[in-house]
Amino acid sequence: MSFESLGLSPFLLRALAELDYTTPTPIQSQAIPLALEGHDLLAGAQTGTGKTAAFGLPLLQHLGTSPQVVDGGRRKPRALILTPTRELALQVHESLRDYSKYLRIPSATIYGGVGMGPQLDALRRGVDLLIACPGRLLDHMERRSVDLSGIEILVLDEADRMLDMGFLPSIKRILAKLPERNRQTLLFSATFEESIKQLALEFMHAPRQVQVTPRNTVAETISHRVHPVDDSRKRELLLHLLAADTRIQTLVFGRTKHGCDKLIKFIECAGIKAAAIHGNKSQGARVRALKDFKAGRINVLVATDIAARGIDIDQLPRVINYDLPMVPEDYVHRIGRTGRNGSQGEAISLVTQDEARLLRAITRMLDQDVEIRDIAGFEPQKPIRWGNSNPPDERSGGTPRKRGRGAAAGRSAAAPQPRHAHAGAKKHEGGPRESDRKQMGRRRRGGDNGSRRGGRTD
Ligand code: AMP
Repeated sequence: MSFESLGLSPFLLRALAELDYTTPTPIQSQAIPLALEGHDLLAGAQTGTGKTAAFGLPLLQHLGTSPQVVDGGRRKPRALILTPTRELALQVHESLRDYSKYLRIPSATIYGGVGMGPQLDALRRGVDLLIACPGRLLDHMERRSVDLSGIEILVLDEADRMLDMGFLPSIKRILAKLPERNRQTLLFSATFEESIKQLALEFMHAPRQVQVTPRNTVAETISHRVHPVDDSRKRELLLHLLAADTRIQTLVFGRTKHGCDKLIKFIECAGIKAAAIHGNKSQGARVRALKDFKAGRINVLVATDIAARGIDIDQLPRVINYDLPMVPEDYVHRIGRTGRNGSQGEAISLVTQDEARLLRAITRMLDQDVEIRDIAGFEPQKPIRWGNSNPPDERSGGTPRKRGRGAAAGRSAAAPQPRHAHAGAKKHEGGPRESDRKQMGRRRRGGDNGSRRGGRTD
């Protein structure tokens, strides 16, 4: 399949050729013809699938080839793309600018955390295309600096994330100001929970559905590894992993902004260049950090889930979950940045006892093996109990019971001794762990169906 066969105009085809886009991705070949025909679309696609061009190309084609309605000399935006974060808004804008190189489509990006001035100027000058985060767009609507009554195409990008972030009321307020008739709506989302379906029912007209990645699948080229550790040693373990080879580009995920800042200080104190991106950083600082990371000037980027959303870095070799995400879907989003296009990727998680529950949820969802491996010198003082079925008193009796089906359960329940129990730990410190690991692998392979998949613990 070629882009020509999708019905795109020569202006777009020329730009795509210059970008070396030779073949449409699956979401593009499914979504573009339907969108060009004017259908509303419910599209299931994650970052990395080429979704931006899937909605961007038909949108640009529409703007570039249909006449503009200029009302009383003032240009009103004709297309609106809503995104959950400013990073994603900027990235979408950049992509669309590339695609529309041979079309003249004035556009602006609207997001919070920066001054209103330049956005007001752009709106005053008049734009056809707006890429906006809901909060700041509402501010503009309240100030009447933007008029959405001329919107012909609406895109909700990463709709699930916008809803997760609590934007539903804002989105509804925005939607209420858009013309209902003759409006095309394209909704892109990695997941389709009930709230998304409700939103679609309420605001879309007979949407066609396209889906490219079954929910929660991850590239098979990613290896998943868990390093059990005590909370008090986590930072050192992270440093140990980073310092082992500082050339490996690594995206580190922390749960909180404050936690990320503390980590950065710690990593930098050890002489490793790193930067953080999260909601408390200024826009300039975030853009700079991302640029430095992409250019390889720094090899460690520490991010929160929300700030990292939409970061587009090809071929990232390693993602480290310093903290596990609260919801398993975020694990998939996080590691979606590695193992792309058939390249190898590593997803490493540092897991404490308090996070065992989160790991169980993640491994249940993943369709891949998760290897659990101690790092010599960082073994937890007490072995981690991975499943509810392994209360500590049972384990300390020294006769472990085989319970559960997954790697996680296999690792703890089938271990011959509580290897890291306080008293016995010294014996093993720095000792060979490779043999334990292999045993665990064999156990897993020899187990029942569920045991091939790490962590099917119940
Ligand atoms: P997205 O999922 O839109 O964030 O796109 C992920 C990456 O794939 C971006 O770097 C795009 O520039 C790139 N990309 C999208 N579509 C194609 C294509 N058809 N051929 C090559 N690269 C593409």
